[in-house]
Amino acid sequence: MRYISTRGHAAPQSFCDILLGGLAPDGGLYLPESYPQIGRQELDAWRKLSYADLAYEILAKFITDIPAADLKVLVARTYTAQVYCHTRNGGNAAQITPLTKLEDGLYTQELSNGPTLAFKDMAMQLLGNLFEYVLDKRNESINILGATSGDTGSAAEYAMRGKHNVKVFMLSPDGKMSAFQRAQMYSLQDANIFNIAVTGLFDDAQDIVKAVSNDAEFKAKYKIGAVNSINWARVAAQIVYYFQGYFLATKSNDEQVAFAVPSGNFGNICAGHIAHQMGLPIARLVLATNENDVLDEFFRTGVYRPRTAAQTSITSSPSMDISKASNFERFVFDLVGRDPAVVKELWAKVDKGEAFDLSSTVYWKNLPNFKFVSGKSSHIDRINTIRFAQGRYNVMLDTHTADGLKVALEHRLPNIPMIVLETAQPAKFEETIREALGTEPVRPADLAGIENLPQRVVVMAPDVEAVKRYLVERV
Ligand SMILES: *Cc1c(COP(=O)(O)O)cnc(C)c1O
Repeated sequence: MRYISTRGHAAPQSFCDILLGGLAPDGGLYLPESYPQIGRQELDAWRKLSYADLAYEILAKFITDIPAADLKVLVARTYTAQVYCHTRNGGNAAQITPLTKLEDGLYTQELSNGPTLAFKDMAMQLLGNLFEYVLDKRNESINILGATSGDTGSAAEYAMRGKHNVKVFMLSPDGKMSAFQRAQMYSLQDANIFNIAVTGLFDDAQDIVKAVSNDAEFKAKYKIGAVNSINWARVAAQIVYYFQGYFLATKSNDEQVAFAVPSGNFGNICAGHIAHQMGLPIARLVLATNENDVLDEFFRTGVYRPRTAAQTSITSSPSMDISKASNFERFVFDLVGRDPAVVKELWAKVDKGEAFDLSSTVYWKNLPNFKFVSGKSSHIDRINTIRFAQGRYNVMLDTHTADGLKVALEHRLPNIPMIVLETAQPAKFEETIREALGTEPVRPADLAGIENLPQRVVVMAPDVEAVKRYLVERV
C-alpha cells in the first residue's frame, strides 16, 4: 500500500515514511492510492474477531511495511481491556468500544474508555506504540511539540509516556483548563513528558508551535515532530471501531447501520467515510456540529466557508470548536473523483481565507453516493438532550455526544440501527452536567482525587526564544 497526496505533487510513500511527518511536501494530505475492498467472505470472517484481531486485519491492509508478526504484537498490546478500562453503563471492556442500547435501534458506542476519557485515545494509544517501534528500527528519535486546550494534549501525553526515543513538549494556556484537565496532564511524572503552561491564551501557545515549526533549521536539528489530527495513522486506527460498531449492532452482514458523529476537524467521520468506501454497509453518516457549523453548512449547501479564530465561538462542547476542518480535504479529494488538480484549486482559495462553492458543479450531484447528512446543535439543545437521555434512558451523556444524539434523532431511517459515537465521558465536563442535571457526573474510581497529586509543570511567558531554549536544554 502506498500513499499519495490530495494535491498530487508528492511522490508516493509507504506507511512508515508518512507516520512521523505531517503534511505532504506539496501541502496536501496523504491518502491510500486506493481503498482496500472488503468482500462478503472477509466481512463474515471478521464478525467473529476480537477488537484487537479485527484491528490487526484492517490495519494490515494499510500498513504493508511492518512485518505481520510485529504489527500483530503492537496492535494486541494497544487494544486491551486494561488500557480501555473505563467502561460505563454495563459495557463489556473486552469489546474495547461496546455499545449502550438506548432503545430498539438506537445505541451509543463508547469510544471514551481509554486513559483520558475521550475518543482521541482510540488512535493515539496505537500511535504511541507505532512511533516507538519505527523509531527503534530506524535508530532515530523525535521531540513532539504541541499546543493543547485539553483533549489532544493529554491523549498524546498518555500515549507517549515512557516511550523510548520520544519526548513530548506540550504547551497549554496557564490557568485556562479545568482543574481535572490540568491534573490529567500535569500529574504525569514520566521523564519524557514536559508540560509548559504559557501565560496567555491557547492561540498564543499555538503561535509558538507554528513559529518553531516554521524555523526549518531548528526543526531539523532538534527533530521536532507533531501528532496532529491530520496524521494518517490516526485516521486509519479509527476505521476499526466503525466495523466493530456495525458487528455489535447487527446480527448479519445483510443489514445496514447509520452512524452519528460529533465532528470538529473531520477526523473521526473521515474514518467512517473510509469504512463505507471499503464496503462496510453504512446507510447514513450523520455529521453533527455545534454552533461552529462550517461542516454542517457545507453538507447542506455545498459552500465551504472556513471561519477566522475571531468568528469561532467558545462552546460547552469545546473539542468541536473549530473554524477550519483540517481533515476535510481528504473527503473532498474523494468527492471530486480524486482529481488533485481540483483540490489544489479549491485549497488555493481556502489558504487565502476564501470560501468555495460546489453546489453548481457535477461533484455535488455525487454527494448522495457518500451517504452524508448533517445538522447542528446549540448550548440549549445540548442541555435538553443531556436531560432527555438521562430521563428517558437513564444514561448520562457528555456534551459532545449530546450534540451527536440531537442530530441523530433528526436523521433516523426506518429499520436501520443508529449508532451515536460517544466521544467523551461526562466526568470531563462537570460544569455543564451540573447545569443540565443538577448533579455531579460519576468519575472513574482510579481518577478520583487526581487534582491532589503532585504536578510537574513549568510556567513561561509566551516567548518563542524561551521555549526553544527550554527544549534545547532537554533534548
Ligand atoms: C476531538 C473531539 C471531537 C471532534 O473530532 P474530530 O475528529 O475533530 O471531528 C469530538 N468530541 C470530542 C470529545 C473530541 O475530543
